[in-house]
Amino acid sequence: MLSRTPEDVAAHAAAAPDLTVLDAGVADCFACPRLVTWREEVAATKRAAFRDWTYWGRPIPGFGPADAPIVILGLAPAAHGGNRTGRIFTGDRSGDVLFAALHRAGLANQPTSVSADDGLELRHTRVFSAVRCAPPDNKPLPVERDTCAPWMRREISLLRPTLRVVVALGAFAWAAWWPALTSVYGVQPPVPRPAFGHGVRVSVPGAPELLGCYHVSQQNTFTGRLTPAMLDDVFDSAKRLAGLA
Ligand code: SF4
Repeated sequence: MLSRTPEDVAAHAAAAPDLTVLDAGVADCFACPRLVTWREEVAATKRAAFRDWTYWGRPIPGFGPADAPIVILGLAPAAHGGNRTGRIFTGDRSGDVLFAALHRAGLANQPTSVSADDGLELRHTRVFSAVRCAPPDNKPLPVERDTCAPWMRREISLLRPTLRVVVALGAFAWAAWWPALTSVYGVQPPVPRPAFGHGVRVSVPGAPELLGCYHVSQQNTFTGRLTPAMLDDVFDSAKRLAGLA
């Protein structure tokens, strides 16, 4: 089920009956020419530290159980993280911070995430990004965001029976949530739209709670803008809102 155009993405995402089929469809997507070129170029040139790796070089599906009440929504995979290992937030500093926090919260069976076969399992939580391919400079173009959106919306739709809370990592994921809210839940965002902020919570009747969290990027964690304690607070809130604590 290769997707080569935005129309393919929309059709294949809508037709996916479950997350297994959806994940396979995501991995076979070639709909954004710039991102396909970039992900393959990065996979071929590699970073010196990873020269022995065979990079994944494809889109990155979601990770975590199909009946998760908590979703963690990121921006896009990292060029030498997910794009190398084939699993979201795996093999980079952002993932180190994120999965250590999920482990402290009891939402992951181990604190590290280094490769797709490292034994990591998530509990009650599924992680995916608004854009599924690594973009240059971590900046997808608006057309790429829009082309990729059906994958995310279908993933939310398939999780809907159990989904209670969405943690948006950063302003990009926060903004990506609103169209999904309307598309999947048939409800309009508040007017004016709440601005992204760390710890901001938005409740819309009939939809999951939305929690804002600074992105786990090195830019935020190295500078202390986002600390482990701040992440712990967000995941405590997420668990409480999901009925897990
Ligand atoms: S960003 Fe999304 S739509 Fe574009 S090629 Fe990657 S998976 Fe496909």
